[in-house]
Order: sequence, then C-alpha cells, then structure tokens
Amino acid sequence: MRFDLITVLPGLLESPFAHSILQRAQKKGIAEIHVHNLRDYSSSKQKSVDDYPYGGGSGMVMTIEPFANCIEKLKSERDYDEVIFMSPDGETLNQPIANQLSTKKNIIILCGHYKGIDQRIRDIFVTREISIGDYVLSGGELPAAVLVDAVVRLIPGVLSDETSALSDSFQDGLLDAPVYTRPADWNGHKVPDILLSGNTPEIEKWRFEQAVERTRQRRPDLLDE
Ligand code: SAH
Repeated sequence: MRFDLITVLPGLLESPFAHSILQRAQKKGIAEIHVHNLRDYSSSKQKSVDDYPYGGGSGMVMTIEPFANCIEKLKSERDYDEVIFMSPDGETLNQPIANQLSTKKNIIILCGHYKGIDQRIRDIFVTREISIGDYVLSGGELPAAVLVDAVVRLIPGVLSDETSALSDSFQDGLLDAPVYTRPADWNGHKVPDILLSGNTPEIEKWRFEQAVERTRQRRPDLLDE
C-alpha cells in the first residue's frame, strides 16, 4: 500500500514514520510512505503556497495551484483510490474507516494549514474528508500521521502477531480487556488469578467478560450499535 502525503512542513512527518511498526512496515515493503513538499510545486518566485482570503477576515488560505500541480503529477504516475483531505469538518476517523482504507492500494493525503485550503481544491480533487476528532490542530500533519498509523497496522503482515490487531479496542465493537505482565505480585497488587491458571478457554472467557464490562462502563454507545 502506498501513501503520498502533501504538506508544507515535511519535517513534521519525518519522525512518526521512522520508528517501530510504521518503520518495519516500510522495511518489509508492505507500506510505502512518500512525503511531498508543497512548496516544490509552487511556480511563484517566493514559493508561496497561501494568500489572503477573498472577502477579508483573519488567516491565510492555501492556494489551488501547488496542490493541483502535485496531485496531477502523482495521478499521471499511477491510479489513486482516494484523495483524502484531513479536516476538522470531515467524517470522524474510527476503526471501520481504518479497516476500509487498509484494503486500498494508493492514497493521497492533503495536509491543510493556516485557515484551511481553497474550497475548490476540495470540490475538484478530494474524494474523502477525515477528521481525527472535534478539536482544531494547527495543521493536517499530525492528523495524517494518525490516519496512516491506524491504517498501516491493519495491513496483513505488518503486526508480527496478526491476531493482536483483531483483539484491539473497537475492532470487534468492544474495548480491549485489561492486560498484565510480570511480576505477578507488585507490593501486594496482584494479577488476577485466572491469568496465571494456564486454562486458556477460561482465560478467553474472562477476557471477553472484562471487555464487555469495560465497554458497558466506559462506552455503552458501542454496545447499542
Ligand atoms: N479553519 C478550519 C481549521 C483550520 S486548522 C476550520 O475551522 O475547520 C488547519 C488545518 O489543520 C486544517 O486545514 C486541517 O488540515 C488540519 N486539522 C486541524 N484540526 C484537524 C482535525 N481535528 N482533524 C483533521 N485535520 C485537522
């Protein structure tokens, strides 16, 4: 699976993909993540990518031309399944959306800045708009990194223990059960006996019950669905 991220701040996207699971996925050749500097696609002398908003008001608006140039160049090289714009007014990212996207081949992600991007970029090029939650960040880079992480870890072969993504919160409509590791007794705080019993069916049953109970307490809305 290939991601092309378009940003004015490529430096912001270096570290998130250079460690751990995302780094391994790229090394294994399962995911390719390309970061494009929007300024390289500006034809203005100052490499500008923003301008004053029509109608006045505060904040700069990102211009069409650099985004259009970059998107069109990428599209001339391969077909894309989605052109996603990270935006607080998009559909809120959740596990079903991450699952859906993990089956795609090529995805472009646009990172906004300032007041946002010229509406015509959204009308002409964008196929999907995704928010990571009801709050506003300064740029689309962190949201894009969140989206890529959520999607890449679901691609088969990325996680070493493939079942581990399946038991994560939300994957089956439930939150995850609590987890413990050694020592079994830390200053009198003990691990539940059942986990030390070696009785796998009983442990699975306990985990399921814990997951249901946790979901009932913290996210009853998930059980309604
Ligand atoms: N004026 C815009 C916010 C601009 S914030 C509004 O009120 O909707 C600048 C950029 O940060 C956005 O264009 C978007 O790309 C990104 N961004 C900010 N918050 C986000 C969120 N919750 N989810 C996804 N992207 C977000």
